[in-house]
Amino acid sequence: MPLMMKAVVKTRAGPGFELCEAPIPQIGPKDILLRTRATSICGTDIHIYNWDTWAANRIKPPVIIGHEFCGDVVEIGGLVTEVKVGDFVSAESHIVDHTCDLCRTGMAHICRNTQIIGIDRDGSFAEYVAIPADNAWHNPPNMPPEIAALEENFGNAVHTALETPVVARKVLVTGCGPVGVMTIAVTRAAGARSIYASDVSDYRLNLAKKMGADLVVNPARENLTDLVLEATGGEGVDVLLEMSGAPSAIRDGLKLLKSGGHAVLLGLPSKPFEFDLANLVIMKGITLHGIAGRKLWETWYEIRGLLRSGAVNLEPVITHRFKLEEFQQAFETMISGNSGKVVLFP
Ligand code: NAD
Ligand code: ZN
Repeated sequence: MPLMMKAVVKTRAGPGFELCEAPIPQIGPKDILLRTRATSICGTDIHIYNWDTWAANRIKPPVIIGHEFCGDVVEIGGLVTEVKVGDFVSAESHIVDHTCDLCRTGMAHICRNTQIIGIDRDGSFAEYVAIPADNAWHNPPNMPPEIAALEENFGNAVHTALETPVVARKVLVTGCGPVGVMTIAVTRAAGARSIYASDVSDYRLNLAKKMGADLVVNPARENLTDLVLEATGGEGVDVLLEMSGAPSAIRDGLKLLKSGGHAVLLGLPSKPFEFDLANLVIMKGITLHGIAGRKLWETWYEIRGLLRSGAVNLEPVITHRFKLEEFQQAFETMISGNSGKVVLFP
């Protein structure tokens, strides 16, 4: 096996990434080494690329980016029993300690000592990536690599859409990036009565329609509040799924949520912001749900069920494919808003 590999690295504090030659990772006794087959760009990678306040507080360069991926197992540590060389796996990107109070009470997805692959340690924008064997999820050998790479991110959508009942309810999805449009598909599969969706990109609103939204609104040129109130007979929606992290979308979404409604929040604001907690949440009796990652491992079984039953088809979400070396163009495509999911092939 070669000693060095190509990798996209955050080499220093500040915007951008660099393509580097990096050593192929060494594995410990409980780890496995994957030859990366496909790896996709997450909204979180855009935060890291742009080096916003969140990224500057979290990332310690140098680090290889990338946490949505799949690959073939090429090496296993001495203590690994559940994974074999040759297996085709995706990865849960959150590495948890299995021992803290949260892990021990069924909440490993918010483990106190979570380390995220491609954020807190080297990730998958590289020819090889090392992960704990515990984090592997087996795929059928014939699953298309771009779909397998997307399972982790799809899990965010599944976790969000299934957090609170949506069957027969009116749902507003703010933000139709890849996670937003996948959330729309799951919400549809889960039996929502109607789905309203907003984004400032018309390209993404078209994708939202394809994935099952009934009404799409571009708040850059239309009045979201008026249109959703009109569509709901002045009542507003039962459930808000917030997938943008944009302060105006969060405020408008909460405004459009009926009293007693549920707001499920996944989008990460790039910095802290103010909103009217008293009138938008407290006095309306709203329940807020913060969504981090995927429930371990309930969400992964739901991912499998939704994909294998055909209830959700992820093909339309993947709009662009690039070689790893073309990462710059891949990020520009994703940032332009004129894309769904962008996948890199090392
Ligand atoms: P993305 O950046 O592609 O999607 C965000 C979308 O919001 C974009 O399409 C953007 O045009 C849209 N938007 C911006 N301003 C808006 C506004 N005012 N109204 C409506 N839409 C607006 O990212 P993504 O990959 O789809 O991820 C969505 C968000 O979720 C990101 O903030 C990402 O960091 C976050 N995320 C969180 C978790 C988690 O575990 N909580 C996991 C993955 C991603
Ligand atoms: Zn823990």
